[in-house]
Amino acid sequence: MSIYVKLILVPLLLCLFGPAHASAAGEVNLYSARKENLIKPLLDRFTEETGIAVNLVTGKADTLLQRLQREGRNSPADLLITTDAGRLHRAKTAGVTQAVSSETLNSLVPANFRDPKGHWFGLSLRARPILYVEGKIDPAELSTYEALSDAKWRGRICIRSSNNIYNQSLVASMIAANGKQATTQWAAGLVKNFARPPKGGDRDQIKAAAAGICDIAIANTYYLVGMLTSKDETQRQAAEKMALFWPNQAERGVHVNISGVALTRSAKNREQAIRLLEFLVSKPSQAWYAETNGEYPVRRDVAAGEILNTWGAFKLDSLNLGKLGENNPEAVRLMDRVGWK
Ligand code: FE
Repeated sequence: MSIYVKLILVPLLLCLFGPAHASAAGEVNLYSARKENLIKPLLDRFTEETGIAVNLVTGKADTLLQRLQREGRNSPADLLITTDAGRLHRAKTAGVTQAVSSETLNSLVPANFRDPKGHWFGLSLRARPILYVEGKIDPAELSTYEALSDAKWRGRICIRSSNNIYNQSLVASMIAANGKQATTQWAAGLVKNFARPPKGGDRDQIKAAAAGICDIAIANTYYLVGMLTSKDETQRQAAEKMALFWPNQAERGVHVNISGVALTRSAKNREQAIRLLEFLVSKPSQAWYAETNGEYPVRRDVAAGEILNTWGAFKLDSLNLGKLGENNPEAVRLMDRVGWK
């Protein structure tokens, strides 16, 4: 075969049978702060249905955000997934996201769980209620987050440190509800009620309560679900000692956060990326979140998982979660000022 024939034939064959043909439906590049096992099965299903390949890069949210900023327009990422609204807001403010206008997303994701300009969308809800040791506390004694600063809880509360975004978002929601001054007083009272200097994650607070170190633990519901369904017997036993209380039901409702997603400003596979977004809010995807992750679906017309259902319906705070990001710097300063380690 002459070199000229090869020049024509080889690219032609590659075109027909090579990798370019296999990815005709295209691809999406995803930066995810969500652990691989909590997203990958959904992505595989998406690829099966659409032929669109998904290239997943997982990492810590702040690291991925810094990477997006560093890479700028050359970033290969199309989408960023984080597990809280605060960091999605941060990404938007940093200028690394862009607006999406999708009828599907706007009609399925309630307005308070998406950016008003379409820069990010919630995919699943995570509630942060009050957990207490059954038998040690009469639930009639509990009412609101605000009441946890009452002197009667001195030395009885376990909660993780202030550098954790879930607590920062909780405090940010309280600044939105009650203002800076009242929230500062509240946080000072809460710190006095800590059973120990904050350490560990949400699961560690539950374990500490079960071990008698405190009577109340603040944790996201999916940690309790994870422990109740754990293969580790000690985790199951600890979780079984706990009961759940939905605070602020006569007022604004329980504090919720989201795991959510943003289209990056640099997105080169915009169309495929939006298709993936719409897939993630489809009914089967939402049901998967509820059953597998122990989170609540962001859609109102998809039922929560089995264990979540046993805790009943509850009123949730209708604050637009963009506020969690807006109030984040103030929340961090405030927690620092009152000595919340
Ligand atoms: Fe978490």
